[in-house]
Amino acid sequence: MAAEVSGSRWRTIESMEQFPPTDRTSVKRLPKRGVYDKGQIHAILDEGFLCHIGFTRADQTYVIPTGYVRLDNRIYIHGSPASRMLGALKAGVDMCLTVTLLDGLVLARSAFHHSMNYRSVVVLGTAQLVTDPTEKMAALQAFVDHVVPGRWDEVRQPTAKEMQATYVLSLALTEVSAKVRTGPPIDDEEDYALPVWAGVVPMRVEPREPVADPRLSPGLAPFDAARIDRRK
Ligand SMILES: Cc1cc2nc3c(=O)[nH]c(=O)nc-3n(C[C@H](O)[C@H](O)[C@H](O)COP(=O)(O)OP(=O)(O)OC[C@H]3O[C@@H](n4cnc5c(N)ncnc54)[C@H](O)[C@@H]3O)c2cc1C
Repeated sequence: MAAEVSGSRWRTIESMEQFPPTDRTSVKRLPKRGVYDKGQIHAILDEGFLCHIGFTRADQTYVIPTGYVRLDNRIYIHGSPASRMLGALKAGVDMCLTVTLLDGLVLARSAFHHSMNYRSVVVLGTAQLVTDPTEKMAALQAFVDHVVPGRWDEVRQPTAKEMQATYVLSLALTEVSAKVRTGPPIDDEEDYALPVWAGVVPMRVEPREPVADPRLSPGLAPFDAARIDRRK
């Protein structure tokens, strides 16, 4: 595969190392869009920082948005010990973590063939509470720097009390799949002659002009939002 998404720096970097598909992670609809290559999956996870976590607690399924970072072969999330989600995950319930990067809206000549270009990853497993203080601090630093590169060194470091008030959980990347769609619409042959505009509208999450805190100390240089552009 030699995919390149228009308007992004996504490239297909095949690492030759694969996450072995399981019964639960084999892509069944349009299997050619399934990706198990570790390099490609890491690249998707590293471009995003927002995931959705599904889990069931007391007969109710929840899907909760939250931030994450990948370090080696684990994903780290964090939050308050009072969080119901973190409480459930800490207890070892099965979880499903999904990351979605939207690359474009695919406008076809028929309503039926409209689509989206995307790269998404689904991870299944159970999380573990991170108790080692060094790993916990490294995960929090990595999270801050993942969202805003270089931010950790600019700000006050967490106190012991703040660390106590934060749970960090990790999820191993073992049962993992990605799915990727790229390219133009795929219309029915007879529809290509229709006088309808068709193509791709590229989409991306990008920073806009920063708005300074009204209580900002005087004399500080403006924040350079280009630092957090995910796909420079
Ligand atoms: C972009 C983004 C990033 C976030 N990053 C983090 C993070 O890094 N760490 C973190 O701890 N939390 C984060 N959150 C908040 C997170 O979604 C949860 O609200 C939080 O973790 C508390 O979860 P809980 O299960 O304890 O919620 P509870 O308060 O126990 O949930 C009770 C009910 O409130 C509702 N609810 C909870 N959260 C949401 C929500 N986000 N939207 C709508 N309804 C909701 C649901 O109905 C839920 O069943 C983020 C949210 C967003 C949107």
